[in-house]
Amino acid sequence: MGHKTGFIDYTREEPNYRSIEERVSDYKEFHEKYTPSNLNHQAARCMDCGVPFCTNGCPLGNVIPDFNDAVYRGAWKEAYDILSSTNNFPEFTGRICPAPCESACVLGINQPPVTIEEIEKHIIEIAFEQGFVQPRIPKTRSGKKVAVIGSGPAGLAAAAQLNYAGHTVTVYERDDEPGGLLVYGIPDFKLEKWVVKRRIDILKEEGIIFKCNANVGVNVKINDLLRENQAIILATGSTVPRELEIPGRDLKGIFPAMEFLKQQNKINLGKDPLGGKGIESNVASELISAADKKVVVIGGGDTGSDCVGTSNRQGATSIMQLTHGPKPPSDRTDYMPWPGVPAIFTTSSSQEEGVIREFGLAPLSFVGDENGNLTGLKVASLEWQISEKGKRIGSIHKIGSEKIIPCDVALLAMGFIHPQHEGLLDELGVELDLNGNVKANNKNFVTNISKIYACGDARKGQSLVVWAISEGRECARIVDEALSNGISELESKDEN
Ligand code: FAD
Repeated sequence: MGHKTGFIDYTREEPNYRSIEERVSDYKEFHEKYTPSNLNHQAARCMDCGVPFCTNGCPLGNVIPDFNDAVYRGAWKEAYDILSSTNNFPEFTGRICPAPCESACVLGINQPPVTIEEIEKHIIEIAFEQGFVQPRIPKTRSGKKVAVIGSGPAGLAAAAQLNYAGHTVTVYERDDEPGGLLVYGIPDFKLEKWVVKRRIDILKEEGIIFKCNANVGVNVKINDLLRENQAIILATGSTVPRELEIPGRDLKGIFPAMEFLKQQNKINLGKDPLGGKGIESNVASELISAADKKVVVIGGGDTGSDCVGTSNRQGATSIMQLTHGPKPPSDRTDYMPWPGVPAIFTTSSSQEEGVIREFGLAPLSFVGDENGNLTGLKVASLEWQISEKGKRIGSIHKIGSEKIIPCDVALLAMGFIHPQHEGLLDELGVELDLNGNVKANNKNFVTNISKIYACGDARKGQSLVVWAISEGRECARIVDEALSNGISELESKDEN
């Protein structure tokens, strides 16, 4: 490393954020750039540990000490080459990854870890500015065809890698834009959509064919894809939301989080927020607005946080976010070992913008007025039974703790249970695991049907963008091996 005492000489500094007041008035990203000297100092904090735990902590195995050193030396092309050798889309992970690499940073034992995620974002943005990111078009084609179903980060990574290997790749996406949750899920204030489009445009130039409004199993026949392709990759995401089956669920004003978030994404893209019925997912049947409303968000994860940030920007009068689990202790304990703090226990930037967080509450019923409009949520406090090791082993409702939280919009953000079964997966007869995800192991990614592979959230269950990219890359490697070994004929299925 160029600066051996960097970790002593400099402290961790984040780039500036736009003020809360300013940023809630639009949907734009709010992290500003480091100054060149700040960036140099932050990279210098990397200790280049003999055993880089950060690399191990990253699902992509990013070679972090090496790119930190290149950044420190101002060797931008080298930094970009190192970063892009393991990560197809650093512009996504550099913005929205919860950075397991930083949790694994050895400096984190007694100081705040290196700002690896921000450094990654700066490398890729400088690489774009300086023209290093160019389409890599394969010189020869294998003559083999692959269909990737789903254009989230897993499908995109798989498509990119297989295309580099020379196969002809078509990506099928039921939404009107490729990108999966990067486009129609994650809000613009975390990831502006031009960033996704910029990458999709490169993938197109590299030769990948994108077919949007193509819902395989609905308006595209899977049997046609089976006939035309030598391999099929299911990268359809974990899209079925966990339901809240309590009395009053049918009152007006209760919405799945994804319908709310997708509408705002569509509005920001200048599209019809109600468009795409019958083909796209998460299309609401009415306009959902938090403006001048008392909003309750049920669920304490990323999706819940994104609903909080979006509700604030839409002008909600109040926002309360409910988390089922107990409030965490504020100090390091066995129960909450730092720095691997689960996301629901940290304060997200959306929560900093204004929300009342309540922990340990169980929703009992929605209450409404005579017109069927939501007016409140009845909840009870939970008393958690904690094992000696600090693990939650059960909960009971505290007697007499019931209360009604007034609200006129409730957003259900309690996570996702598995990929959609009806349609494509049922038609294929693909085997599922005990959780309802597509059954395929993380060594060969193949399903019970030969030549049909699965990766990303559809296989792993709801996860993270960095895992989706990692799965897409690994799955592509296996598919390429199979195609290159000549195992390329798909069993043709009878059309019926
Ligand atoms: P997806 O991104 O879900 O993409 C699957 C795609 O398949 C979708 O576009 C879908 O329309 C398409 N599809 C499904 N069925 C068909 C079909 N039959 N035919 C054609 N197309 C089909 N992760 C992070 O790391 N950081 C975050 O900050 C973060 N925030 C999140 C916020 C929200 C609101 C949500 C819901 C998730 C968030 N995640 C975050 C998780 C992350 O987005 C996912 O883990 C990741 O997108 C999974 O990628 P994927 O490619 O497997 O699936």
